[in-house]
Amino acid sequence: MRILVTGGMGFIGSNFIRYILEKHNDWEVINLDKLTYGSNPANLKDIQDDPRYTFVKGDVADFELVRELIKKVDAIVHFAAESHVDRSISSPDNFLHSNVIGTYTLLEAIRKENPGVRLVHISTDEVYGDILKGSFTEEDRLMPSSPYSATKAASDMLVLGWARTYGLNASITRCTNNYGPYQFPEKLIPKTIIRAKMGLKVPIYGTGKNVRDWLYVEDHVRAIEAVLLKGEAREIYNISAGEERTNLEVVRTILRIMDKDESLIEFVEDRPGHDIRYSLDSWKIIRELKWRPKYRFEEGIKKTVEWYLENEWWWKPLINERVLHPTPWKLEW
Ligand code: NAD
Repeated sequence: MRILVTGGMGFIGSNFIRYILEKHNDWEVINLDKLTYGSNPANLKDIQDDPRYTFVKGDVADFELVRELIKKVDAIVHFAAESHVDRSISSPDNFLHSNVIGTYTLLEAIRKENPGVRLVHISTDEVYGDILKGSFTEEDRLMPSSPYSATKAASDMLVLGWARTYGLNASITRCTNNYGPYQFPEKLIPKTIIRAKMGLKVPIYGTGKNVRDWLYVEDHVRAIEAVLLKGEAREIYNISAGEERTNLEVVRTILRIMDKDESLIEFVEDRPGHDIRYSLDSWKIIRELKWRPKYRFEEGIKKTVEWYLENEWWWKPLINERVLHPTPWKLEW
């Protein structure tokens, strides 16, 4: 099997590529990535010389490039997106380009060049918006709250429209918040670990009561593999481990593992439009594709903290003003 992975130099895409090449000896991967701020070639340093792996620097919104690349692939896993909510608040333009025009371009290239190719479009629980009680199923309406989630919802709609009208073999996954190795330092969990390690205050937006449902990245990657191999065309699969925690609980857990004092916590001005709680019902993927998460939050977060503490070489060069600023969504607003 030859797979085109878009956005494979980012957090989840790089974990996916490493997992796939380790597990399937006869699979090949082409990684198309624009290398934007969230990407990092160091994420795949260990496999860059593997003959089954090819990296192409480019934009998923470049029709001719994508058309050329998909000629000889059997499957496409589409991760490429602008993914940082805080950045989507301060500068939404790139989000429209990569998430909407990028997905549209990919769909058009598939339709014209390789209409039978298998496509898995990687989306997010954020397209449903927040929910105070209960959990969203795949049938629920989309009600995005941020420029990021609005563009992801738009890309999901494009995939469904193209799949139905042109018969593309496409499935969509919607996953909860991921955490694990190689996550960019601007995100809550790496930022907390890194700032605590540096002896800096750890900022928490608002009251810290916002709830996220946390999934260890390796569990997400296995779920994507299951959808790629066994998922049905035009079906959507929610993915979650049912590990809901408030942001405050997450930060406290990290500080406890690191043996740091809770006085490091600093409550700061909330992000506008901040979703209160995300929660997904992922019974469908469990029932139909026999996927199950392996990691409980306490186990995954311990592994994650250990990874960041052991891999300072990876995150040190990525420290920027958004990691150092307590309310980065305010920058350039
Ligand atoms: P990331 O920001 O770490 O990686 C995204 C990658 O896409 C980067 O390497 C970037 O360079 C690349 N990219 C961006 N625009 C591009 C373009 N126009 N052309 C080619 N490459 C481009 O993000 P991530 O956290 O790994 O997320 C990957 C996907 O998973 C995204 O689609 C995101 O919406 C989705 N997702 C993420 C989470 C999460 O918790 N991180 C949860 C659910 C879904």
